[in-house]
Amino acid sequence: MQLKHFECDTVCGFMVQGYDRDEIYKIATDHVKKSHASANITDEMVQGLITTIETEPESK
Ligand SMILES: [Zn+2]
Repeated sequence: MQLKHFECDTVCGFMVQGYDRDEIYKIATDHVKKSHASANITDEMVQGLITTIETEPESK
């Protein structure tokens, strides 16, 4: 599975991850709009901050 991971800068420390890419993107854009309104972070920059982590399917 592909885990999506968004991490803000280290000063801010905001981080979110999950399997729903759209949800992570929404939370991330929401966060930068609320917390970094003056930083002019574009949607493209947010997308650039979202990384994909390959995870092993859980075996039973
Ligand atoms: Zn932040």
